[in-house]
Amino acid sequence: MPRESNAVKRERAVEVCRRLEERYGPVECFLDHANPFRLVISVLLSAQTTDAQVNKVTPELFRRWPTPEAMAGATPAEIAEVIRSLGFYKTKAVHCVECAQMIVSDFGGEVPHTMAELTKLPGVGRKTANIVMNVGFGIVEGIAVDTHVNRIAHRLRLSPKTHEKEPLKTEQDLLKIIPRELWAPVNHQWISFGREICTARSPKCGECPLADLCPSVRMS
Ligand code: SF4
Repeated sequence: MPRESNAVKRERAVEVCRRLEERYGPVECFLDHANPFRLVISVLLSAQTTDAQVNKVTPELFRRWPTPEAMAGATPAEIAEVIRSLGFYKTKAVHCVECAQMIVSDFGGEVPHTMAELTKLPGVGRKTANIVMNVGFGIVEGIAVDTHVNRIAHRLRLSPKTHEKEPLKTEQDLLKIIPRELWAPVNHQWISFGREICTARSPKCGECPLADLCPSVRMS
């Protein structure tokens, strides 16, 4: 593909967003988001794991420890027992307890809603904070770049290849070319697209609504 100007790349990115908006419309968060605490814990648990797996363990998790105060009093071993079907469950169990403890001790029992405060919570990085702010509080400061969003951004070459393994840099690339008013639905719409069409192993380029915009298109 010949080198593309930023203006042309921006136009392509906007068209990608427009078409995925048309296809998927408003998409609900796939994880338990009944309140910000449940959301932050659910997103924290979803690292390297499917949302469906997380949704299998959270009913029991929040039945036993429904609030930050309750979870702050649990031991990591108790939490681990409930979430042991998830990858990295031991580390995640420690993060759940420490995260709940910090919400209680530093934030009066309420999940904070700024990027700076959220990313202080154990186990919460920028991706998780973006989702919590967006879904939990309706505040949009960035785009949560998970494995689907990252893969799609790179297949569409909206971010340079050198950033392929660095989602935080991929996010910054997307923020530069996608207008701010389009950021909010990107994560959930692109995840839907990544599950349905632009899958990790065998993308369905033949039925892709973005094929004419995609430098990685493969027609068999
Ligand atoms: S054309 Fe293929 S690789 Fe490109 S976005 Fe569509 S499914 Fe993904």
